[in-house]
Amino acid sequence: MIQFKNVSKTYNKTNQALININLEINKGDFIFLVGPSGAGKSTFIKLLLKEEEPTEGNIFVEHQDITKISRRKTPYLRRNISVVFQDFRLLPNKTVYENIAFAMEVIEASSREIRRQVPMVLGMVGLSDKAKQYPHELSGGERQRVSIARAIVNNPSILIADEPTGNLDPETAWEIMKVLKQINRRGTTVVMATHAKDIVDTMQQRVIALEKGRIVRDQHKGAYGYED
Ligand code: ADP
Ligand code: ADP
Repeated sequence: MIQFKNVSKTYNKTNQALININLEINKGDFIFLVGPSGAGKSTFIKLLLKEEEPTEGNIFVEHQDITKISRRKTPYLRRNISVVFQDFRLLPNKTVYENIAFAMEVIEASSREIRRQVPMVLGMVGLSDKAKQYPHELSGGERQRVSIARAIVNNPSILIADEPTGNLDPETAWEIMKVLKQINRRGTTVVMATHAKDIVDTMQQRVIALEKGRIVRDQHKGAYGYED
């Protein structure tokens, strides 16, 4: 589903953020991406989203080499790979419903599809009763659930979560993890970059650890492995 082949990324000719990464992620995997600050996690995610291009190597998503597709075609990639961020990134002037519908409008879904899909994903994240609220009227956990609903509304095969619990208290963080695990059970591959030791240690999923741009550990049912 995702393959990195001899991937390196060097910023400004000198700053080696990723060094010869080789990695396969299978359909349906749940992956924790861990490592100290500066290890290369954000760069890894940016390469997958085609926000940055590798200096060397190839990245395959569902057998398509994404380093070879033109910028113009990245919207198609975005249908397949979706992302949630630590800071939610919701549109403040749109309601919950409109925030999610907007993600469908940009890929030109029909209004019939939108009317079917938006209530469905709101139900999945447990926010059916918040459709008409604005982001500022919601708690942090609710905002993150909206951003997850928005991320899955176009049925991506891969969901990337960049520190999705970083702004949440531990109890709320666990609610978000339940939602992500439920999405994963339905078949979506989840790649989550995180510093949440408790969550990684408890969930017993595959753990990929980066340090100074290299994979130093790739562990089935792994642990966080750091003390921060
Ligand atoms: P984290 O992923 O740990 O939350 P960031 O990705 O924001 O943190 O930043 C990680 C490191 O990358 C930091 O040392 C930061 O200074 C550096 N960094 C991030 N973006 C840039 C940039 N545009 N130019 C230079 N350094 C950057
Ligand atoms: P992490 O997310 O694990 O904190 P990053 O991928 O943000 O790591 O950073 C990896 C390395 O690349 C760091 O040395 C960081 O300073 C550098 N870096 C990240 N983004 C940029 C950028 N846009 N320009 C220059 N250097 C960057």
